[in-house]
Amino acid sequence: MTDLLVAGAGPTGLTLACDLARRGVEVRIVDRSAEFPTGSRGKGLSPRTLEVLDDLGVIDKTLASGVTHLPHRRYRGAEIISEVDPEAGREPTDDIPYPVGLLIPQWRVEQILRERLAGLGVTVEPASELTGLTQDTDGVTAAVGDTTIRARYLAACDGGRSTVRKLLGLTLRGETPDVQQMDVGDVEVDGLSRDAWHQWLTPTGGIMLCPLPGTRSFQVQAAGGEGFQQTFDRIAGVPGVRLHEPTWRSTYRVQVRMVDRLRAGRVFLAGDAAHVHPIAGGLGMNTGIQDAYNLGWKLGLVIKGQAGEGLLDTYEQERLPIAASLLNITSEVLTEILESIRHRGGGLDAGTTHDLSQLTLKYPWSRLSRQTVDHPGTPRAGDRAADGRIGGRRLFDLFRGPHFTLLGPPAAESGTSALVQAHGVENAQTLTLVRPDGYLGLIADPTDLSAVSRYLEDL
Ligand SMILES: Cc1cc2nc3c(=O)[nH]c(=O)nc-3n(C[C@H](O)[C@H](O)[C@H](O)COP(=O)(O)OP(=O)(O)OC[C@H]3O[C@@H](n4cnc5c(N)ncnc54)[C@H](O)[C@@H]3O)c2cc1C
Repeated sequence: MTDLLVAGAGPTGLTLACDLARRGVEVRIVDRSAEFPTGSRGKGLSPRTLEVLDDLGVIDKTLASGVTHLPHRRYRGAEIISEVDPEAGREPTDDIPYPVGLLIPQWRVEQILRERLAGLGVTVEPASELTGLTQDTDGVTAAVGDTTIRARYLAACDGGRSTVRKLLGLTLRGETPDVQQMDVGDVEVDGLSRDAWHQWLTPTGGIMLCPLPGTRSFQVQAAGGEGFQQTFDRIAGVPGVRLHEPTWRSTYRVQVRMVDRLRAGRVFLAGDAAHVHPIAGGLGMNTGIQDAYNLGWKLGLVIKGQAGEGLLDTYEQERLPIAASLLNITSEVLTEILESIRHRGGGLDAGTTHDLSQLTLKYPWSRLSRQTVDHPGTPRAGDRAADGRIGGRRLFDLFRGPHFTLLGPPAAESGTSALVQAHGVENAQTLTLVRPDGYLGLIADPTDLSAVSRYLEDL
């Protein structure tokens, strides 16, 4: 019997496995593929996801593998008609150390997470497809390859075509908008510079070529249904540009769909298994990573007997509304981009009026957001815990790891326990308990240490 079986080793499953493994929970992670993916697929990490990767201890490697501020360069034929950095002017601050998204191929994110996981003593079991599933009061029995695995809990991180979701009889509800199917792939390109995301967008078709950092390849996205070079020649028609050495090719159709439950007994759905987005907002991989990060600490505490089963219900209570609102945002972004291309000669930057940083996501409605004092104009329970400095120390350094962090007057330091690391702050106006996933759980009167113990008992 293992504590947790993770089905699917994409970004969602790997994040969950890392978070549980660092908590000393026994975790197995299986994937039906015999080989790790090498195609770029998702290529953007949001500022909030970068904070998650900071907490998981892989931020330096991640930042070193990507680029920021790559301009969108739009053309008509060989003529440049605009060049925009949609995130221009966003500089790091004490509160927000990663203010802009990072361009990085998804396979590299997965590789970094697999290396972190291996460092924690867990390796992905390849060529291991989950095909069957039963559950009882003590655990889940999964048919995987030609064996069975018994686990206390199962996390379905098996992507948009999730087998687990189908075995549970859950459906992805929503729509498949009437938008042309796109071709996507990784190719080498002669005749284009690597200092911009090159885009030719017309009302009747388009092609975009984005250099992938750390490689010689570009990700090409095209509406055409023909060879990439043919689409390029037909739409861009720039002589001397040659697309060659394709290493990956796929197609995608825009989907706006999600399930109406994230939990069925001892099984949890996360990432694309639970919601599929238009890629226009670039939020699919990010939302999956953040689902996993929300679920990880809760499963960790329950498996270790430090919290009651009911804590696991808060995963769905918190993440289902977030999934719904992100689906709305990504479909609005898609509509605005398509409208702009069709009618105003615009491009991808038409969607950047929306906040895609995910830094403002919060859980004010959650029973885990508790506030007993109110100082207008200051952060509220359920908000993201911002970075900053106290007494010369960086807050994200204090938060990093699987614990809760308590910030309050020096007397609060007595609140340190197996679950909580407490730090005294001169003239603290409140007691603030930061959840392991970096959200404000409790804001209480600075003298009310018992509020902290009540909060933890109620978990
Ligand atoms: C062209 C393109 C561009 C994109 N751009 C972005 C972007 O910029 N930003 C962004 O955030 N997202 C982007 N996305 C979306 C992103 O790729 C997905 O949202 C992301 O892969 C979801 O991660 P996941 O771990 O939930 O699922 P997946 O990555 O699909 O991983 C699921 C894993 O489960 C395995 N599996 C499936 N069935 C089984 C089974 N029965 N048993 C065992 N294993 C199984 C699969 O082999 C796979 O490894 C893009 C996607 C595409 C195609």
